[in-house]
Amino acid sequence: MASIECEMCGKKTAKTTKIRVDGAILNVCDDCARFGKPVDAVRSFNSLSSEHSENPKPVTMPEKPRTYSAPLRSKPVYRKPKEDLEAMDIDPDYAIIIKEAREKLSWTQEELAKKLQERKNVLSSIERGELMPDIRIARKMEKLLEVKLIQKA
Ligand SMILES: [Zn+2]
Repeated sequence: MASIECEMCGKKTAKTTKIRVDGAILNVCDDCARFGKPVDAVRSFNSLSSEHSENPKPVTMPEKPRTYSAPLRSKPVYRKPKEDLEAMDIDPDYAIIIKEAREKLSWTQEELAKKLQERKNVLSSIERGELMPDIRIARKMEKLLEVKLIQKA
């Protein structure tokens, strides 16, 4: 009676089973058979895995029809200020312009302030360049002093 050595544990056995362990095919005893996959089973396993690795056809999503009902980019809306006040700027040299025009008319700060219906402090601040006259005062000054203070932006 011929006995075969188990290729895994070396035990002498009458019957071996072919198994695959880490890619190698071994003839092992029944005890060791569980450590690998029987070759017959391996074949079916391979076919199974090859089926598995088959790449399914990429699913192409139907392209959505583009709708042009709403434009993607809408023009920025510029709000026009009621009286164009924000589109106007006071001449950066307002302090000199006002002071020179006032002195040309031989008005004191107090006189001009009175005509402008503003406090003298306000006017002197403006003439020192510390306070920028608002459009309302600038318009009055333009009329009184016959100067140009407001610049259209
Ligand atoms: Zn064995």
